[in-house]
Amino acid sequence: MEFGFQKEIEFMKCVICKHGETAPGVATITLQRGESTVIIKGVPADICENCAEYYLNEAVTEKVLEQADAALRAGAELEVRRYAA
Ligand SMILES: [Zn+2]
Repeated sequence: MEFGFQKEIEFMKCVICKHGETAPGVATITLQRGESTVIIKGVPADICENCAEYYLNEAVTEKVLEQADAALRAGAELEVRRYAA
């Protein structure tokens, strides 16, 4: 008898709508802090085909927050940036 591990990394079920499956794509992330809004476009994410909810991995989340932080420190009220890997 053989034992195997089943991997379900590529296509996971969406936890929001519990219906759709996610597929790799790019998302536009909007972050708000106080009066400031930062929009970061072109962020690599897994996106639900059903409800468009996005899922970011840890490394990407960290970079998004870093870039948002830099924009907020500059004192922007509304900043639109493109994701820089
Ligand atoms: Zn969904």
